[in-house]
Amino acid sequence: MTDFRTDGAAALDWAARYLERVDELPVLAQVKPGELTARLPQSPPEQAEPFADVLRDLDELLVPALTNWQHPRFFAYFAVTASEPGILAELLAATLNQVAILWRASPASTELELRVVDWVRQLLGLPEGWHGHIEDTASTSTLAALIAARHVTGRNVVVCSEHAHSSVEKDARMLGMELRKAPADEELRLRVPDDLSDVAAVVATVGTTSFASVDPVRELAEAAHAAGAWLHVDAAYAGPSWICEEERWSQDGVELADSLVVNPHKWLLVPMDCSLLWTARPDEFREAFSLTPEYLRTADDAYALADYGPALGRRFRSLKLWAVLRCYGAEGLRAILREHVRLAELFASWVEESPDWELVAPQRFSLVVFRRNGSDEHNERLLERVNASGEIFISHTRLGGRYVLRLAIGNARTTEADVRRAWEVLNR
Ligand code: PLP
Repeated sequence: MTDFRTDGAAALDWAARYLERVDELPVLAQVKPGELTARLPQSPPEQAEPFADVLRDLDELLVPALTNWQHPRFFAYFAVTASEPGILAELLAATLNQVAILWRASPASTELELRVVDWVRQLLGLPEGWHGHIEDTASTSTLAALIAARHVTGRNVVVCSEHAHSSVEKDARMLGMELRKAPADEELRLRVPDDLSDVAAVVATVGTTSFASVDPVRELAEAAHAAGAWLHVDAAYAGPSWICEEERWSQDGVELADSLVVNPHKWLLVPMDCSLLWTARPDEFREAFSLTPEYLRTADDAYALADYGPALGRRFRSLKLWAVLRCYGAEGLRAILREHVRLAELFASWVEESPDWELVAPQRFSLVVFRRNGSDEHNERLLERVNASGEIFISHTRLGGRYVLRLAIGNARTTEADVRRAWEVLNR
C-alpha cells in the first residue's frame, strides 16, 4: 500500500538522485537478454507490498538493466531529453488522469492541447490556420496522415525515399497500401518521381533517420499536388530545429504540405511520448476519422480531438509540452538546440581533420555520420567495443552498403567535455 505523501517524496528524491548521478552509470545496459527476467518473480504478489519495496527493486533489479537515455553521453539513434518540467508535468497528468475522448470529457485537455500545439506552430514559423493535435509517436502521426490521404484521394499507393523512416513502410503495410520506395540522389534526397498519377501520398522527410538529409519538399509538394496526391512531411527529428531561424532553410516548401509531423519527444525536451501532427486540411482529416457512437453524442459541444487520429481515449500530453515551453521559454530552448548543433559541428570538424576518420555524409542538424578508415568489420567491432565500455553509446547505419557510425547529440545535459570524451573513447 502507499502513503502518497511519504512515498511521493521518496519517489521524487529517487528521481532527483537518478538525474544527478546518471552520468556515472553505463550508458548502454550491461546485461544479457533474459538476465532481468530471471530475477523477476514469475507470479504477482498475493499480499500488498509497500511502495518502498518497489523503489528498492528499481535500484536493485531495474537500474542495471537500463539503457540510460538521460545520460549526457547517449549519442545513439536520436538522443533525447526528458527535462525536469516535463517529468513533473507527467506526474500531474497521471494524477489528473484525464481521458479526453471528447470536449466534455476534458475541456482542459482539449483546449490546452489546441493552444499549446498552436504555440509550437508559431515558434516553428509554420502557416497560420493549420490544425494541430498530439499523437503518441511519429509512427501513429504518419499512420493518421496516410489514412486521411487515402480517404481524400481514393488511391492506395505511398511514395517515399529509400532513406525514409521504417515507420512509413510499417504504416503502409498496416493499411494494406502499396509502398514505392524511390531512389535518392547523391545528397541523399528523394528524387522527384516522374509519375504520381496513382499515388495517394508522397512522404517527404526533413532530417532522415540515418543521415539527417532533407528531401526537396517544395518540388515534391508541387509534383504531388499536380498529380492529385497528398504531401505528408516527416520532420519528426529535425522539425524542432525550426525554432532557430538559421535552421529554417530546411523548411522550404513545408508550407505546401497537407500534413506534417514533428516530435517534441525527440528534440524539444519533452518526455516520451509527444508527437505533433498538423494538417492544412482539417475538414478532410475529420471526415476520414469521425465516427461518433451514440453514447458519445452530446448536445453541448461534440468537438473531439479523437476525430483527427486513431485513438479515442487520449492522455493529457499537452500538460508536459505546456510546462516545458513555459519553463524554458523559446529563448532557453533555442540556446540548447544551438549548443547541440555547435557540438555536432565541432565533432564533425575533428573527424574531417583526422587522417584516420572520414565524414561520410554532409553534417546536418545535430547528427554526425562517419567511419574509421578500414573495413566494415573493423568499424563494427569498434562500435561494439566503445558501447561495451559503457562510457558512450553510439549507433550505426549503412550507406551504399558500407557500415557507418552515427553520433547524434540531443541530450540537454551533454557538454563539450562529453563530446570530447566520445572522441577520445573512439580513438582509444
Ligand atoms: N521519422 C523519423 C525521421 C525518425 O527518425 C523516427 C524515429 O527515430 C520516426 C519517424 C519514428 O518516430 P516514433 O518513435 O515517434 O514513431
